Amino acid sequence: KKWVYLFSEGNADMRELLGGKGANLAEMTKIGLPVPQGFTITTEACTQYYEDGREINAEIQSQINDYIAEMEKITGKKFGDKENPLLVSVRSGARASMPGMMDTILNLGLNEDVVKVLAEKSNNPRWAWDCYRRFIQMYSDVVMEVGKKYFEELIDKMKEERGVKQDVDLTAEDLHELANQFKAEYKEKLGQDFPSDPKEQLMGAIKAVFRSWDNPRANVYRRDNDIPYSWGTAVNVQSMAFGNMGDDCGTGVAFTRDPATGEKGLFGEFLTNAQGEDVVAGVRTPMHINEMEQKFPEAFKQFVDVCKTLEEHYRDMQDMEFTVEHGKLYMLQTRNGKRTAKAALKIACDLVDEGMRSEKEAVAMIDPRNLDTLLHPQFDQKALKAATPLGKGLGASPGAACGKVVFTAEDAEAWAERGEKVVLVRLETSPEDITGMKSSQGILTVRGGMTSHAAVVARGMGKCCVSGLGDIVIDEAAKKFSLGGQTFHEGDPISIDGTTGNVYAGIIPTVDAAIVGEFGRIMAWADKYRRLKVRTNADTPTDAKKARELGAEGIGLCRTEHMFFDPERIAAFREMICSDTLEEREEALAKILPYQQKDFEALYEAMEGNPVTIRFLDPPLHEFVPTEEAEIKKLADAKHKTVQEIKDIIASLHEFNPMMGHRGCRLAVTYPEIAAMQTKAVIRAAIAVKKNHPDWKLVPEIMIPLVSEDKELKFVKKTVVETADAEIKAAGSDLKYEVGTMIEIPRACVTADAIAKDADFFCFGTNDLTQMTFGFSRDDAGKFLNAYYDTKIFENDPFAKLDQVGVGKLMKMAIELGRPANKDLHIGICGEHGGDPSSVEFCDEIGLDYVSCSPFRVPVARLAAAQAAI
Ligand code: ADP
Ligand code: MG
Ligand code: MG
Repeated sequence: KKWVYLFSEGNADMRELLGGKGANLAEMTKIGLPVPQGFTITTEACTQYYEDGREINAEIQSQINDYIAEMEKITGKKFGDKENPLLVSVRSGARASMPGMMDTILNLGLNEDVVKVLAEKSNNPRWAWDCYRRFIQMYSDVVMEVGKKYFEELIDKMKEERGVKQDVDLTAEDLHELANQFKAEYKEKLGQDFPSDPKEQLMGAIKAVFRSWDNPRANVYRRDNDIPYSWGTAVNVQSMAFGNMGDDCGTGVAFTRDPATGEKGLFGEFLTNAQGEDVVAGVRTPMHINEMEQKFPEAFKQFVDVCKTLEEHYRDMQDMEFTVEHGKLYMLQTRNGKRTAKAALKIACDLVDEGMRSEKEAVAMIDPRNLDTLLHPQFDQKALKAATPLGKGLGASPGAACGKVVFTAEDAEAWAERGEKVVLVRLETSPEDITGMKSSQGILTVRGGMTSHAAVVARGMGKCCVSGLGDIVIDEAAKKFSLGGQTFHEGDPISIDGTTGNVYAGIIPTVDAAIVGEFGRIMAWADKYRRLKVRTNADTPTDAKKARELGAEGIGLCRTEHMFFDPERIAAFREMICSDTLEEREEALAKILPYQQKDFEALYEAMEGNPVTIRFLDPPLHEFVPTEEAEIKKLADAKHKTVQEIKDIIASLHEFNPMMGHRGCRLAVTYPEIAAMQTKAVIRAAIAVKKNHPDWKLVPEIMIPLVSEDKELKFVKKTVVETADAEIKAAGSDLKYEVGTMIEIPRACVTADAIAKDADFFCFGTNDLTQMTFGFSRDDAGKFLNAYYDTKIFENDPFAKLDQVGVGKLMKMAIELGRPANKDLHIGICGEHGGDPSSVEFCDEIGLDYVSCSPFRVPVARLAAAQAAI
């Protein structure tokens, strides 16, 4: 089997095998761009490495060795050679790009002998020792997992001793000494000498890159981005281009369009006399890419041409890494650039207008998960104008974030867990901070440019970020900073604007976002190409209106129990629960009826004649009873009972397993009067609204929850139909209505043919269906799911991403049994999954008629539905 490919043997279509980076290095080679040559070890080799118990087997090792010989031929240099040594980078590169998540090692192939020759022959000892100390640093960190910080401390100490501020101010001798200190540190930490054999170094590095596929931050990133663990990473071994050989050298990163706004034009950063990650690590503040023109006119001109070629070739915005060595340009990476949701929409529309992409392609280019961020509140422009910014950094990732200041990723997580909104303020962020960044409303950093770690990761997450606010004086240890004459301590409120980079004291009010401009254009195209309808889960007129604005085509789930918790109604409902006779119960229910009717009227109004599905009471009754002494007393008085009698009733409602207890349609079986009251409310409301809007096609859909047996549905439906028909007749109306059921118990899926005969519609309640199918409750699963992720038993939370294999199979079965039994049956989904893009795609595939999701997910579902259809 072929495990290794030269760059010249691959192309962009081989991304599964070569990873994104490898495939694009091959493609750039193919179209004749200046790429330092090398080879790619396939993702299959990574999978094999894990299968072999984290070892690189003999066959793969021998192919790697063959390809080194190949590479030596191509470059005319030799590994470990003292005359003309080959130095390489060893770079990770998965199928989907995971910036900063895995590891890279530069300058591999150096040892004491080689570096001395290099120093002498190049007449550039500073460069040679700089490479060597970087290599020791990276190798120790990545391969041997000696913490980075020990080396950074040594560098800081050296800089202090020499009285210099920046790495570049250290001399050749300083760097030489640093390299010695590093090696001593290595020996002290690991009890062995730093390896000097380049082949040994190489195998170690390759192994480390494979291993980095499984590091914690990569695992978190994959889960967040739906990247399967099984893919593995490829490894690229590439000969070095040196940007750190002097002032006629440098390294940079650039985008062909602005990744924050989507604006066309070269966007990026450049550092002279620097290597690798210096630009993104924020070690020195880089210069704007356009300044490169003055320093390196030739290379710059060539680079501009390369940008044009690449953008036209890939027909998308490119994110590139390059290095200039003695004035000569080398391309090190290109990929379709990560971008904010706002930029994604603008770029997609621009590419259509520029004739590079079709509407369908434009729709397919947008990651639906990112839309979320556009729907988040924006600063109220009036309030913003009235406020005076304390300082201005770079608007690195747009959005509005307000919250309390925290200084560490751990604090951000802990505070967020307590329900606090926080803004993470750091000198600079590193990949270890990723979970803390996720928990924050926004991120503010003192150092770093537009391509710094914080900026890149924040944009990827759709988090607001202001970076490089150098005016901040921060004391991370003491958890405080000052800016614009004010001092902020942990917990102080702050607002940051990721669009302008402005930072404000206190909380600035925000307003809701709207679908306009490019967002509107893309959504209109999406609507044109999708088949699935998109409804919303809404219980209040406010939610319903919001969802309508966001494009909902109806309500797929109204949870009526939420309407019972209102203080006025809960009293009546508690009286109902504590009644002894049917009459008493009906009397209490009659008090609730007008409230429910008003609720439903408001929902119908908000939905403007679109379908509205109302689910009847679902939770167990004990969720409604009072727990406080005073409340119990009040209820006792109202019912003319003793406190003890009420307590006895409450105790009698206790259940060992309420999730599988007396709830759903079982309530309607024991208390048909509840279903009768709800039916009256649904029908009366519809008749009333129809009077005002005779042109609306108002057909209320009554949904019976938790059905597991056809006779159950028949029984409840009888009450519903009798009540509804009587109401309609009494009102002299011609109202139509439907009665359907939720499919959320495995038995309902299995017996769906029988159930379908009595149901006008099915709606998959995949929250319950998931917990009933797996047999664990979603309220308790949090305790052990993390262990399931760590052991790779699960890659995702089945409550967030539909389990297509198991739960999905039950859904398919229900559809295949249900449709032939009732040809008019319409089918939807209203679990949390209705707003998850990959689940929406599955719903399209199995032929559902609609998905229903929370209001802010509606645009996500519309786009995902279009992508499923394209
Ligand atoms: P990441 O995926 O985290 O960006 P990369 O593998 O792209 O990691 O490399 C990290 C840094 O090292 C980048 O700045 C890259 O341009 C630089 N680099 C990688 N390989 C070489 C090389 N052969 N010559 C010079 N610089 C390199
Ligand atoms: Mg890179
Ligand atoms: Mg349910």
